Amino acid sequence: MSLQIRRYKDIVAFKEGPGPAIAFHSSNMEVAEITEDVWNIMKDSSLQSSEATPDLQIKDEKLSQQDQGQSASQELTDWQNFQNPEVQSGATAFGIKSLTINVTQICNLHCTYCAAGGDGSFGDPMKKISVEKTLPQIQFFMNRLKEGDRFHISFLGGEPMLYPEALKIIGEYSQTLADEKKLNLTMKVTTNGTLMSDEIYKILTDLGINVVVSLDGPPEVNDLTRPQKNKKPITETVAQNLRWMLNQPHRKISIAIHGVFNQNNMQIEKAYDYYQSLGADWFEFTYAVDTHSSELNQNYISQMKKIAEKAIQKGGEAELRKISIFDQYFKALDQQQRTENHCGIGKSLLIVDARNRLYNCPWTVGQKADQMGEGQELFTDKLDEYQNSLIERNSCQSCWARFICGGGCSFIHQSKTGSKTNKDQDFCFRTRSLISISIMYYNHFREDQYGKETH
Ligand code: SF4
Ligand code: SF4
Repeated sequence: MSLQIRRYKDIVAFKEGPGPAIAFHSSNMEVAEITEDVWNIMKDSSLQSSEATPDLQIKDEKLSQQDQGQSASQELTDWQNFQNPEVQSGATAFGIKSLTINVTQICNLHCTYCAAGGDGSFGDPMKKISVEKTLPQIQFFMNRLKEGDRFHISFLGGEPMLYPEALKIIGEYSQTLADEKKLNLTMKVTTNGTLMSDEIYKILTDLGINVVVSLDGPPEVNDLTRPQKNKKPITETVAQNLRWMLNQPHRKISIAIHGVFNQNNMQIEKAYDYYQSLGADWFEFTYAVDTHSSELNQNYISQMKKIAEKAIQKGGEAELRKISIFDQYFKALDQQQRTENHCGIGKSLLIVDARNRLYNCPWTVGQKADQMGEGQELFTDKLDEYQNSLIERNSCQSCWARFICGGGCSFIHQSKTGSKTNKDQDFCFRTRSLISISIMYYNHFREDQYGKETH
């Protein structure tokens, strides 16, 4: 059944099959079923379009004027004009709340789509971070936070498990500082999952470092997309390590799987089934940042829809929300929390490379134009460019998905169009598609839970 979309200003509505249309008030972050009359006066739109329709499709203008008060047009304009006092602003001021630390710039695999030049190095001969230089950097950023603030450290590489001592020293230091300053510290490591031992697991669990394992599917797929340098298969080792971590008694850290899908591998359903067989806590399915094909984009969306259906059949909302993107959108809708910045680029996130230089995105490490500082010095003139919200910066004001998407990934926009602020329309289509799927399922689950509100 094909999806129909209609829009009136901030309100977008979706209809698939014979049931009622589901509408989303994009500024109020509200989801509701609408009546057939309301649906009928909204104008056709599409997931490709970000244009707001400012008027209604009223065939008999006279009748609708007489009918005011009860008419569908009144109902719709009342909802459009209502300002939800519960909605949470997504505005953020400058303040680094998240550091991604490239603890190594070497890797034991040779992934086909690596952000770090295929060998983890970003083209730089410096292989490991200097822990001595990193600790004062962490202190510099944590000192600027106030009691109760959140701070997140993400350990990345190359392959970070090639230097577990760095995780231990940086993790212990950061936790001590966070305790002193009463900050809410979270930590995560993204690893290829090939290197695991009692010692490494102890470091992770003692410090509460959550684990994300990169794995693109079952062995016949992952051994091709994420090969060892010697080309020998490695996926069974990764799966064993995952099972071993997942079966640890009284496990205190979350274990997730992250796959990347591109022109060499778009087998999302297959990956989902495999991830399910391993049983991780949550799964992430990323469309590769440098894949630019409308056909593959559509294929990705269709398979994401299929795995959402599969998840719901298996275990309802809980299982759907193990797929991270759906969990993220459900949370935003539950909390009526707007997002005005897709990510913390230039505002709340910095990447520390193995030379302690600071960049605005994991994908721009080594690029001079995107260097935002060094050591404990910030290049404020460069950071100033990013201080508007990404919705404004990327001119997303008329898109109904703006407060869930937050202006999109600047790196993807740039890799497609050559400019961070010139949007990749495939990204927008993909994002609006996934949000529309989420809204429809959200209505389904909340309707069961709370009874329904109809506009
Ligand atoms: S980047 Fe996001 S918010 Fe901006 S137009 Fe695209 S989908 Fe909408
Ligand atoms: S620009 Fe894109 S890739 Fe870079 S940090 Fe933001 S979301 Fe991530």
